[in-house]
Amino acid sequence: MREIIRLAFELTQAVDGLMARTRAFYYEVMLSGHSCPRCGGALRMLGEGRCRCIDCAHECDPTITYQRCSVCEGHLRLRVCRYVCRRCGRDVHSRFLFDTRVFDREYFRERMAESRERKRAEQASVPPIMIARRSEELQPAPAHLAAVPGLSEALDGLVNTPELIAWLSLPRVV
Ligand SMILES: [Zn+2]
Ligand SMILES: [Zn+2]
Repeated sequence: MREIIRLAFELTQAVDGLMARTRAFYYEVMLSGHSCPRCGGALRMLGEGRCRCIDCAHECDPTITYQRCSVCEGHLRLRVCRYVCRRCGRDVHSRFLFDTRVFDREYFRERMAESRERKRAEQASVPPIMIARRSEELQPAPAHLAAVPGLSEALDGLVNTPELIAWLSLPRVV
């Protein structure tokens, strides 16, 4: 039994290693045809949706910088966790993402800040004696998330993204 566990563990490690090498190779190939928009230098992928010039350290999102809409040739923008065409509004699959999603960190940061601000304002307007009862009523969190436009919808698709879980400190859904 112990032998099987050891073999399974080694197999998992080997697959992880292979995936990491495949991802690195994929990014190398995808970026090889492009150069830094600022100085023309070579690019390296930093993480999902982010690359950096090895000469001048300029950073950009390669999908937004190099990819265009396949239908109308429009420029793309990141909308919460997917790329859309600025001109025709179509969803566009990024060529620069290997196996994970990209998400708009700024969007989540702003929505979470708004949500916290609203909660503070709500509590400030309630007499102290009511706060204990109100905070019970505010549980569970989903009702609160629903108050933020688009957030729960976006979280649905992202709830198991490791970076987001770490960032929001959410329990991982198994
Ligand atoms: Zn550069
Ligand atoms: Zn388009």
